[in-house]
Amino acid sequence: MLPPVKKDRIITDLPKFYCSNAALHTKDSFHPQVKAACQEQKTGAVNFNIAKVIVVGDVAVGKTCLISRFRKGAFDKNYKATIGVDFEMERFEVLGVPFSLQLWDTAGQERFKCIASTYYRGAQAIIVVFDLSSESSLAHARQWLEDAMKENDPSSVLLFLVGTKKDLSSPEQLQQVEQEAIRLSEELRAEYWAVSAKSGDGVKDFFFRVASLTFEANVLSELEKSGSRHISDIIRLSDDTEANHTPIKEKSKCC
Ligand code: GDP
Ligand code: MG
Repeated sequence: MLPPVKKDRIITDLPKFYCSNAALHTKDSFHPQVKAACQEQKTGAVNFNIAKVIVVGDVAVGKTCLISRFRKGAFDKNYKATIGVDFEMERFEVLGVPFSLQLWDTAGQERFKCIASTYYRGAQAIIVVFDLSSESSLAHARQWLEDAMKENDPSSVLLFLVGTKKDLSSPEQLQQVEQEAIRLSEELRAEYWAVSAKSGDGVKDFFFRVASLTFEANVLSELEKSGSRHISDIIRLSDDTEANHTPIKEKSKCC
């Protein structure tokens, strides 16, 4: 049997977005159907407990450090280039239900592109990482996303655009890069985050958001598949279920 989920991996409310202008949705609670399903899941009715998440981006933007900061709670100073592909399981409890993120880290080197399709396939979320202090890494983000999307269903995969090494930029530099990053996120329908693996700024919040949104999407998709009859029997859906997934274009405020 698996050991219990660590206390600092328990999610009871939907974590807040980083920037309302580039968020996947701006509601501050889980979908009512999801909450109800989780109560019911305790009886073992629905199966939705794992999500594959792939992390892509140029070499040395900070992908491995980002994952390792979250997993270990510390910045890994001993830089070692990732060889090939690696994945780590990170366990959570969301709304009382065990849930795991399978985090796939990869080397950005061209020579590993041949294995990319296997690596990309079946992802529920794609995290495109760029270095906030490198304009070229942001310019390449679109290409990384397009490659990863070829193997996935664009209508169901959740996208995150993450700027790392926030500690290296002044507030002025950050503001300038963020303008472009937010513009790109709006266009790609991705959720934008800026973090630092070195200081830890935003890292836990970001992964909690990824876990929560993939969990929610998995539950909703399971409910759709199973016809959701048993769920509608036990709850009255609130009248704003659609509003939980507000399209990005309709939002106006910035961060
Ligand atoms: P990857 O190739 O994308 O996996 O990049 P790594 O995670 O291996 O990081 C590449 C380099 O960037 C290493 O020298 C890290 O120490 C450095 N780095 C990663 N994240 C940060 C960060 O948040 N702040 C700073 N200052 N350096 C970072
Ligand atoms: Mg790496």
